[in-house]
Amino acid sequence: MTDQRRRIPRTDAVLADPRLAELTPVFGRSRVKAAVTAAQRRARDGEIDPELVAETALASLSDAGPRRVINATGVVVHTNLGRAPLSGPALEAVRVAAGSTDVELDLVTGRRGRRGRGALAALAQAVPAAEAVHVVNNNAAALVLAATALAYGKEIVISRGELVEIGAGFRLPELLESTGARLREVGTTNRTTVADYRAAIGPVTGFVLKVHPSNYRVEGFGGTPGVGDLAGLGVPVVGDIGSGLLRPEPALPAEPDAATWLEQGADLVTASGDKLLGGPQCGLLLGRTGLVERLRTHPLARALRVDKLTLAALEATLTHAANPTRAALLADLPTLRRRADELLLLLHADGVKADAVDTVAAVGGGGAPGVELPSVAVTVPIALAGPLRTGTPAVVGRAAADRYLLDLRAVAPDDDGDLAAAVAAAWEAAACA
Ligand SMILES: *Cc1c(COP(=O)(O)O)cnc(C)c1O
Repeated sequence: MTDQRRRIPRTDAVLADPRLAELTPVFGRSRVKAAVTAAQRRARDGEIDPELVAETALASLSDAGPRRVINATGVVVHTNLGRAPLSGPALEAVRVAAGSTDVELDLVTGRRGRRGRGALAALAQAVPAAEAVHVVNNNAAALVLAATALAYGKEIVISRGELVEIGAGFRLPELLESTGARLREVGTTNRTTVADYRAAIGPVTGFVLKVHPSNYRVEGFGGTPGVGDLAGLGVPVVGDIGSGLLRPEPALPAEPDAATWLEQGADLVTASGDKLLGGPQCGLLLGRTGLVERLRTHPLARALRVDKLTLAALEATLTHAANPTRAALLADLPTLRRRADELLLLLHADGVKADAVDTVAAVGGGGAPGVELPSVAVTVPIALAGPLRTGTPAVVGRAAADRYLLDLRAVAPDDDGDLAAAVAAAWEAAACA
């Protein structure tokens, strides 16, 4: 151990390595030095060979930042992988908006314009049933804004069957109560009636909240009133559809959409922008002019406002029919099978042991619970899971016994070549290990 420590090169010796010296003007001396110190610490802890201090420092500097991942999980909207990948037009809009842009300026009149009016107009056009629209940071922010502006010190009436946890400790009831609104729970876990709501409504009611339980389903004896049944109760009905479908999607008949809930009488609908809509992270608010204006002009709205990059990506997503999420959702089985066969040809040519199997993919990300999307996966030995995850690009699939499944439904067809190359590289890495 002492011997090992003695072999750790001194900081100035490592910094003199030409490859690191070249990076000093790029990253600054303190960042390069910090990378070297961290690598020396790893050598001292016995994690890496002392000879590899410079290489480790180099790798940590050049690997910084988000890494590209091919989503072969079979989950179309994967929260851990950043949910919806942006479309080409959305990426281009982000690139343009990254510079100085007309986000709050009307270039025709030269006067100040409403922030993000292009994105707002596109959203309004996509959902004619909405009198007015607004956009915030995410759906959680949309709910916080609604609760704060409409129910501070009042009650939000909600079914016990809709007090959901969305994921990783995000519980809707806790979020709502954090705003100073009180929850008035009605009904039971599996069944709530209109009479339950009616009995709870009174002078302290802020609004009735209808939440689409987007990640679970009650089977058997159950039921909650639809938005239409709640519309006549004399208080605003706010609906959280979660998934962000703006119109009915024939491929997901059980998934609610903004237009339908508004037509059925919801006064305000909230949704995510980065789930089934296929856009950037944001929260959509659609509904009656009076309510949307109260939210938009509330002081809290400023703290929840979206960045120009988000507005640019949202507008492009709304004005183009195609995007990767939609393509993954609507991919047909024969096409997926053909892609799997072509991948197998490439892999077998590289000597990789791989097969194709039929699988069941999921919508994910809080959308369409229980909906099964028939899919196809290329399967490789489970030993490739680690090398695939740490390769470039990284590939994340799912384990099934001793096989690692690379489900093609959420993989963009344009990425098939990169996927094959990544699997071949992982095969080599696993064979060498
Ligand atoms: C996903 C989801 C949310 C949270 O949306 P974010 O955009 O992640 O804040 C809230 N409600 C429902 C029903 C959801 O599905």
